[in-house]
Amino acid sequence: MNELLRIKNLTKAFDENGPVVDSLTFEVKENEIFAVLGPSGCGKTTCLRLISGFERADGGEVHVEGKLLESPETHVAPQDRGIGFVFQDYALFPHLSVIENVAFGLTDIPKHKRHVYAEEVLCRTGMGKYQNRNPSELSGGQQQRVALARAIAPKPKLVLLDEPFSNLDAVLRESTRKEVRSILKNAGMSALLVTHDQEEALSFADRIAVMNDGQIEQIGTPEEVYFQPKTKFVAQFLGRTNLFHVDAFGDEEVMTALGAMRLNCCAKGRALCSIRPEHLTLEKPNEIHTETDIGTVVSREFRGHDITYRVVFNGERYLVHTDNRVLFEPDDEVIIKPLESAVVLQEDI
Ligand code: ATP
Repeated sequence: MNELLRIKNLTKAFDENGPVVDSLTFEVKENEIFAVLGPSGCGKTTCLRLISGFERADGGEVHVEGKLLESPETHVAPQDRGIGFVFQDYALFPHLSVIENVAFGLTDIPKHKRHVYAEEVLCRTGMGKYQNRNPSELSGGQQQRVALARAIAPKPKLVLLDEPFSNLDAVLRESTRKEVRSILKNAGMSALLVTHDQEEALSFADRIAVMNDGQIEQIGTPEEVYFQPKTKFVAQFLGRTNLFHVDAFGDEEVMTALGAMRLNCCAKGRALCSIRPEHLTLEKPNEIHTETDIGTVVSREFRGHDITYRVVFNGERYLVHTDNRVLFEPDDEVIIKPLESAVVLQEDI
């Protein structure tokens, strides 16, 4: 896949408190859905506004299809960047009907053809029959689809989406996410989504950049950032995990409080490791186990298809996530068994 958007050392500070976007570098490929995932206030919206041209960069560059759009010396106006934008609150024009909202930006098409084409795009997003309504007469999910239709109608190569599903309830969010993904893929467009919702990024994006305090800590596929986090922040932000230190001697196997454990890579010295709760399981102790092998169940959370246990072992607490056939009660004695390798984390980046 060819590269469509390239961000190089993109930097922005609003005041003396330092950069809120700090030397970001990444690229988005053609027909790729890319998510920037991070906690509230880490600089995600500012990053999107720099790419779209609503904000000026202090340093770095934004290129689309090899063309420089933004740098401290260059600024192409937002309307000339060929980028679609879906705002967090959709920002539909309240006084225009649905079809007029979509036709509004189609300035490259002769006037008499704009409504015909806008209707076609609305049908693609499942909103054809609502074309004469005003935005105030639509539900949140419907407004979201009109906003998407408006963003994709001028056929931009790239669509930017700022927390696009956060105003929808949980059920609608999931179905709208699937529909939007398939609309973007079928249209052959690339999308850059920013969100603080891990599940959204994991299920919607082809690749994810995990952002913390203005910087990117890791870029990878959803599986890579979830299963092979590089830092403590990424491990903890992507889901629940167990963190512990080991003393490693240059190979992939170490002795831990839980017994011998494999690591995802060779490590030497004191290393911080992460293992996801679902990569541990519980067993009943038998006669070969001594007191130091045995932990105690503190609590259990039954959730139908799976169970989360909290276990105290050697004075440390562990989270263990099992399927619903592994049944223990609080105060039961258990052995904690690793099912997968633990991941070695960088303590500082
Ligand atoms: P959220 O998920 O809550 O929307 P975010 O990750 O998108 O957060 P930004 O909106 O990019 O974060 O804000 C990053 C930081 O920059 C915040 O501390 C914010 O207060 C600050 N900031 C954003 N815009 C401005 C501005 N125009 N002037 C001054 N500070 C700003």
